[in-house]
Amino acid sequence: MKAISLLSALALLLTAAIAGAAEVAKTKVLVITGGHGFEKEAFYSVYRENPDITFTTAEHANARTGASAYDRDDLLSFDVVVLYDMPKEITEAQKAKFLALFDKGIGLVVLHHALVSYQHWPEYERIIGGRYPEEDGKGGKVTEQVGYKHGEDVPVVVVAKDHFITAGLKDFTIHDEIYWGFRVSPDVTPLITTTHPKSGKPLAWTRTQGKSRIVYLQLGHDHTAFENPHYRTLVGKCIQWVGPNSGVPR
Ligand SMILES: [Zn+2]
Repeated sequence: MKAISLLSALALLLTAAIAGAAEVAKTKVLVITGGHGFEKEAFYSVYRENPDITFTTAEHANARTGASAYDRDDLLSFDVVVLYDMPKEITEAQKAKFLALFDKGIGLVVLHHALVSYQHWPEYERIIGGRYPEEDGKGGKVTEQVGYKHGEDVPVVVVAKDHFITAGLKDFTIHDEIYWGFRVSPDVTPLITTTHPKSGKPLAWTRTQGKSRIVYLQLGHDHTAFENPHYRTLVGKCIQWVGPNSGVPR
């Protein structure tokens, strides 16, 4: 009887230890928005329903205060920062805080319209590996050269078949917004592209900055994309790869 209770106690301890370890392994994510509207519930469900992460949301206050989400005191306590924001302005102090992410090795996942942020800050384009250039820096104007279109069927083609993020992912089609005319830096590693004739290419890429890994993913305008299982897989894998828990050596 005594031996059995001891064994049960040990089993309980072991279960608690395993649960504790699993808790520690969750990636701590800060999701930053602001400067562009989005379908909040559908967007956040992608993060809420990801069992591998815990996440905190932050929103830039307004245009006057620039990229104020970077002013939070706990910025450097996160494993990964996800950008689904589109601010136009960023103060010198906020730039320094943003750049500190890469000294610390904090991962960065840049989504969709965050390719349009800070039209007047070239360093941002260099870091994330691309830019959707607004003709006048004031947004919105669609031309033959640079533009966007909602509600397109986008055939997605996996380019990097051996990369952690896209390994095992089959080509798929997603109903989403396309951009064209965006610039892509020569030092990026493309992950996925598309055969859509009007869309810019590639649709996702990686690069490194300082001690950090960075991914850009163009997909993800609204709930039709957020509900797409392939989109969810991609976002989850992006977070895992730029974070500390992918197991892939840096
Ligand atoms: Zn959009």
